Amino acid sequence: MSAIRIASRVTRIKPSPSSTASDRANALKREGKSIINLVVGEPDFDTPPAICQAACEAINRGETRYTQNNGTPALRAAIAAKFARENRLTVAADDIIVTNGAKSAIFNAFAATLETGDEVLIPAPYWVSYPDMVLACDGRPLIITCQEAAGFRLTPEQLRASITSRCRWLLLNSPSNPTGATYSRAELRALADVLLDYPHLAIMTDDIYEHIRYDGSENVHLLEVEPRLADRTLVVNGVSKTYAMTGWRIGYAAGPKALIAAMGTLQSQSTSNASSVSQAAALAALNSGTEFISHSREIYRQRRDAMAAALNAIPGLHCQLPDGAFYLYVNCAGLLGKTTATGQVLKSDTEVVLWLLESAGVAVVAGSAYGLSPYFRLSIATDLATLQAGAAQIATAVATLNSY
Ligand code: PLP
Repeated sequence: MSAIRIASRVTRIKPSPSSTASDRANALKREGKSIINLVVGEPDFDTPPAICQAACEAINRGETRYTQNNGTPALRAAIAAKFARENRLTVAADDIIVTNGAKSAIFNAFAATLETGDEVLIPAPYWVSYPDMVLACDGRPLIITCQEAAGFRLTPEQLRASITSRCRWLLLNSPSNPTGATYSRAELRALADVLLDYPHLAIMTDDIYEHIRYDGSENVHLLEVEPRLADRTLVVNGVSKTYAMTGWRIGYAAGPKALIAAMGTLQSQSTSNASSVSQAAALAALNSGTEFISHSREIYRQRRDAMAAALNAIPGLHCQLPDGAFYLYVNCAGLLGKTTATGQVLKSDTEVVLWLLESAGVAVVAGSAYGLSPYFRLSIATDLATLQAGAAQIATAVATLNSY
């Protein structure tokens, strides 16, 4: 018997499906196959030079030591200013914690609040990590399926029908990974009206893609629409996607004092403060204006339009134009039941994705990973020429399918 016994909190969760898909694509690449990897969940842009420069200057000033556990006062003040400027929310710097990426903010919030069997409402399609984080913290994910016909959005009726007395949290991710769905002011109002009826339910908003949105509509936050929810809402955000800073690992959360304090206690006994150098870089990012944001958004928009048109021209596939984020969530129901050149009948999106990898040389992630099938997620955080080559290879492969 081995001395190492893995705890159930780990055995009940699985590694991120997007990392697994990427690993598989990379393994095929190493075997010499040419693979177009459209799995990636991070901007293909480099971090803007001025932000990197700020990090170098912080090192040269000797900012290489522990910082305050919840983040440097300068960064927390800049985050408070960002909430006021961009979201019209008044948040005190003391009610903000800087974390090791937004992921760590979400995990710590669950770890700080969930008891065994507590339920967390997660609208699907969802970011792959949410259910596993809930499971790791002994909670129960309650999945609410949001249909394509509803723009993959949670409706107030669905929300009301799903709330139980064991529900502790509702997770709202807008724009969403993987569908790009966003909520308008009126839609948020309708959700807030339901939430006001259930004071035992806390709300976590994951706003990590807030600046990557294409519909031209205003960026509205649930708390701007309904400030009375502030004493039970945790606002999660970070610099990873907006400023192409995924590797710097800076996220942040703002919320009720007791929750921020509990998350701080957990952070102090686990990772401690986020990297001092990365915090200096994040401070520069938040004060860097909007030029990089508008520039990258325009490029994503061109890719989104080109790829949606290319994929919608392929018989058996269709996708909506996402309002935000940098993914297309492609419906592949039209490929199910078709027979491949080797005689396999495609029965699920998982099989479609494996077949696309083998036959088209294109790596994407199956919708089953995001809680709604039959779809696949395709990332547009790659240059246009590569994306177009990917679409062409998918079209060629699909043309070889038969329905005998
Ligand atoms: N939230 C969503 C919806 C995401 O897609 C991601 C990253 O893919 C994160 C949070 C994590 O962000 P970070 O890299 O800052 O931990």
